[in-house]
Amino acid sequence: METTIYSTHKFDKPSIVNANKGKHQLNFLEFRLTKETALLAEGSKAIALFSSDDASSEVLKILHKQGIKFIALRSAGFNHVDLKKASELGIKVARVPAYSPYAIAEHTMALILALNRKLIKAHNRVREQNFSLNGLTGFDLNGKTVGVIGTGKIGAVLVKILHGLGCKILAHDVSEDKNLIDLYDVIYTNCTTICKQADIISLHVPLTPSTRHLIDTEHITLMKEGVMLINTSRGGLVDTKAVIEGLKSGKIGYFGIDVYEEEEGLFFEDHSDTILQDDVIARLMTFNNVLITSHQAFLTETALTNIAETTIYNIDCFENGKVSGNEVS
Ligand code: NAD
Repeated sequence: METTIYSTHKFDKPSIVNANKGKHQLNFLEFRLTKETALLAEGSKAIALFSSDDASSEVLKILHKQGIKFIALRSAGFNHVDLKKASELGIKVARVPAYSPYAIAEHTMALILALNRKLIKAHNRVREQNFSLNGLTGFDLNGKTVGVIGTGKIGAVLVKILHGLGCKILAHDVSEDKNLIDLYDVIYTNCTTICKQADIISLHVPLTPSTRHLIDTEHITLMKEGVMLINTSRGGLVDTKAVIEGLKSGKIGYFGIDVYEEEEGLFFEDHSDTILQDDVIARLMTFNNVLITSHQAFLTETALTNIAETTIYNIDCFENGKVSGNEVS
């Protein structure tokens, strides 16, 4: 089946080509899907999207006019697709529900460790032959209280890692995972208690209307002085301007993010030759206790292989009228 692959990057094209094994006619585009680039899918029956693509109502209408019947998401999250509009237009959508929760949980851990032990500052110092240790003091993770908000696939792996490090784990989720209580002594509670008691808070819920700006001024006010806040889930979970105020006052002692509210059109691209227009991320970048990666938590070989294989499987199933089990509606 002819399929247009939007937002192809050097890092993911080889895995998609390998998984396809020449079955489908793939048209690789480096552009993001937007209302301006939607016309480029002409001739295809399906498109494959990355998390940075825009499948909003307006864009879906253009795709529909060109005969697009199926969207294969190369991501677990689907907040970038207007599912209601897709359903109205008869466009089916499938995702990759799990490709490697380890990849994201391990990157979360990397952010926690790098911030705590000030690895970036230490590395930069050593490169300048400054071997002083002043200002590099961290804290033992052993015995610290970590609040994990969202204990689905990724949150559960993080819980296991944190338990191994000797952390006390508080969790919040709409549905409790009994295994985590039995195996890792997790205590389920509400967000308010987590904010009041946790030394580190890590977010692993999807972005929905009910989780948007879950971390806002009110919740930040409740947090412990010098708390570490980590977000590898979706930028919109955090009110970034409120976090900047928290960083300025010292309430937030560390902020590690792999996702950013306004990352669309910014992350995944090289903007080094242009002038940064986003004053909010520009302010974040001035804090030496802030660590930002540009949505790379998923980026492991295992994850890329799994994403590509499930994407091609979803396209196979759609073409053959079969249910993949990965449909989202
Ligand atoms: P999952 O569906 O397995 O887990 C999500 C958990 O959140 C579930 O247990 C669910 O019950 C809980 N939840 C949903 N709404 C809630 C609410 N309002 N309050 C409390 N709990 C709620 O998902 P996952 O695979 O663990 O992924 C979590 C998120 O990580 C995804 O939604 C995605 O946004 C993000 N993600 C980021 C990257 C990256 O590269 N940075 C990669 C993959 C996923």
